[in-house]
Amino acid sequence: MNNEIQGKSMSEWVKDFPVLDDLRHEKETTWFNSRLQSAQEGIAHVGLTIKDVDDAADRLKRFAPLIMDLFPSIKTSEGIIESPLVAVPDQSKALGERYGHSLPGQLWAKLDSELPISGSIKARGGIYEVLKHAEDLAIEAGLLEPGDDYRKLATPKMKKFFGQYKIAVGSTGNLGLSIGIMSAALGFDASVHMSADARQWKKDKLRANGVHVFEYQSDYSVAVASGRKEAEADQKAYFVDDENSSTLFLGYAVAGRRLAGQLQTYDVRVNADNPLFVYLPCGVGGSPGGVAFGLKTVFGDDVHCIFAEPTHCPSMFLGTYTGLHDKICVQDFGIDNVTAADGLACGRPSRFVGKAMEHLVDGFFTIDDDELFRIEANLHDKAGIDIEPSAAAGFVGPWRILAGNEYRQKMNLDDVSMAHATHIAWCTGGSMVPKDEMAGYISKGESLL
Ligand SMILES: *Cc1c(COP(=O)(O)O)cnc(C)c1O
Repeated sequence: MNNEIQGKSMSEWVKDFPVLDDLRHEKETTWFNSRLQSAQEGIAHVGLTIKDVDDAADRLKRFAPLIMDLFPSIKTSEGIIESPLVAVPDQSKALGERYGHSLPGQLWAKLDSELPISGSIKARGGIYEVLKHAEDLAIEAGLLEPGDDYRKLATPKMKKFFGQYKIAVGSTGNLGLSIGIMSAALGFDASVHMSADARQWKKDKLRANGVHVFEYQSDYSVAVASGRKEAEADQKAYFVDDENSSTLFLGYAVAGRRLAGQLQTYDVRVNADNPLFVYLPCGVGGSPGGVAFGLKTVFGDDVHCIFAEPTHCPSMFLGTYTGLHDKICVQDFGIDNVTAADGLACGRPSRFVGKAMEHLVDGFFTIDDDELFRIEANLHDKAGIDIEPSAAAGFVGPWRILAGNEYRQKMNLDDVSMAHATHIAWCTGGSMVPKDEMAGYISKGESLL
């Protein structure tokens, strides 16, 4: 029978994994990870270390003067690509009324929507991987030495040098934007393979930057496969592999230590009595995985990382819950992968991240598309912050924790510690969305409220 999934019928799957019943019917659901381990054990399983994150942070620091030259908009942060952290108490109050339970503790928003250069969390991993590749090539060619001023990489001679090399990537939009803009700024010949979900303005923007854009009528996996194929045929081509890249992952991971500094600025304490919850919108898994890894290396067991996915594309949830990881895609379970959360529309989870993070992610939840729009409208109204639908997914997280009695009991999260808790919804993208498109999202959310 060909409607078996990995050798089992659907009813057998549902019997062994009861949450699958809600998942496959595209209903909102929450699952706390039964394979969760201590941070120490979980980190050891990842295959990367704190030293790897140190290296990534150092690399970004070396490149900062160059980035400042290439993108004058980030002069005010001395070339460090970072985003604000803001408290959103009015949003917390509004959501508390909506969900029938006011939130004990604080609610903050981490505004990767405002990240310079490409306006999404992909400005962390994507740009980092392009920089690392440029550094590798220049060192290998004897054109750069450790200790050099990296601004020399922007000379016409170096631009010509990078111009011999191609960089290719497959994307739902934002990764392509980050890789394309950074690659083009250094002089690389960049190609972005875009899935059907990718917004037109992202393609237009890339073309205006001289990037080759290929469009597909199919989903993200096909776009990635095309990018991979293009690069394989060419010795001078480099493929940024969003389904497997530890380089992207480390670029994202640097966020953990930066967040620690921001929390300290506001005297937000994180320890056993003051838990930190971070809610990360998840597509293929790279950005939430990398950020969560970085956070665990800083805060250990005091941080709880929860991944958020649309009900129409719970791929990392499905992969981790069943242990099948990238062997399955959401379509295998009859889930359609059609969602307004374009940045999260990756039907098959990352092979690398699912396994690496299986003992460190506290839990997963799914959220309905309409709720994303409502949250987005709320945030606009209560905090004057505009984000894209994907980026709104984290905000219901605190209420899923409140409802998760068994989980809180297991983790010793009693009422006192919940009253002292800090919740951060990671807002992963949005500042570059054209005004009229943003207005459309918000009015849709308002009409649903
Ligand atoms: C890509 C993206 C995510 C998820 O990142 P993955 O690495 O695909 O899991 C979340 N939000 C936005 C806005 C994104 O563009």
